[in-house]
Amino acid sequence: MKVLISGGGGFVASHLTELLLAEGHEVIAVDNFITGDRRNLEAVRDRPKFQLIEHDVSLPREYPAVDAVFHMASPASPVGYRTWPIETMLVNSQGTYHLLEHARKCGAKFLVASTSEAYGDPKVHPQTEDYWGNVNPVGVRACYDESKRYGEAMTMEYHRSLDTDTRIIRIFNTYGPRNQPDDGRVVPNFCMRALEGAPITVYGDGSQTRSFCFVSDLVEGIRRAMFTEGTAGEVINLGNPSEYTMLEFARFVNDLAGNKSEIVFEPLPESRKDDPMLRRPDISKAQRLLGWEPVVPPEEGLKRTLDWFRENALGTPASV
Ligand code: NAD
Ligand code: UDP
Repeated sequence: MKVLISGGGGFVASHLTELLLAEGHEVIAVDNFITGDRRNLEAVRDRPKFQLIEHDVSLPREYPAVDAVFHMASPASPVGYRTWPIETMLVNSQGTYHLLEHARKCGAKFLVASTSEAYGDPKVHPQTEDYWGNVNPVGVRACYDESKRYGEAMTMEYHRSLDTDTRIIRIFNTYGPRNQPDDGRVVPNFCMRALEGAPITVYGDGSQTRSFCFVSDLVEGIRRAMFTEGTAGEVINLGNPSEYTMLEFARFVNDLAGNKSEIVFEPLPESRKDDPMLRRPDISKAQRLLGWEPVVPPEEGLKRTLDWFRENALGTPASV
């Protein structure tokens, strides 16, 4: 198949690009590199079945006809979407619209990368796809959460009203090689500080939870969500249900890195208000529809991620 992947130069989509090329598909990546990194595409750049289009997908343009469109473009970390709030809102609204239009015109399948942030600070735990969420529509996270929710509604309407073959995936916290060392997310921050022997900063009292999925598991789930029969019109959580408080997670990363960094508590930065207190995916729908579940244990995934940071990123200053 010929596929278009928006945000192809990013963390998740560069792994997806490699997986699909390895299966023999032709991949067109579209990226403007606001949060991505050209080095993510080094391994595939010269492959005959790979093409890069440098473009802001929030703006209209003609693309080659394809069989499937993966809309993965969007800043994804709190630091990323606070740095690019308007761009984030546009890529998840206008960007989704333009790529849905392209999919509709060429009769392609369409997948949009939504997020567990669509559930906001959830009152239902673990989160099931039928939960509508608890989102502050005017808070500092709204540029991301609400634009993703808008993108979901737009995607659903193309399916409902225009019969486009769409699916929505809600991605839960994912980590692995090519995580941006300075994007402020908890995995890069904890790993970098643990490797440097610098203090590991836990925001608040560290009782908030997250559930972490290794990137190879996620991209296999994304592949299946696109190509498995019976996924048209569906909303599917993709993540790893193994849940940690941030304090437990800091100790876990610290032990694996072996440097015995100090763990310190800091007030939640202003840019992180409305920090969700609990997050864990219910993945029974992905198990049933896709026959998918994560297979990489957290210890192994984190060791591989620490190795990658050690080799590629030491010396990069961390962000908050
Ligand atoms: P990333 O920042 O590494 O990748 C996003 C890519 O999109 C970057 O290469 C960026 O340059 C590109 N991009 C952004 N706006 C663009 C635009 N207007 N036009 C073209 N390209 C644009 O982030 P990621 O972690 O790989 O996230 C990928 C997708 O998955 C995002 O849609 C994100 O919201 C979603 N997601 C990720 C996570 C996670 O834990 N990584 C969790 C939930 C959802
Ligand atoms: N966090 C932390 N220290 C850090 C970075 C993040 O304690 O250096 C916390 C943050 O407050 C949140 C969790 O880790 O509760 C996950 O943050 P991240 O930015 O990775 O993703 P989020 O799930 O909030 O989008």
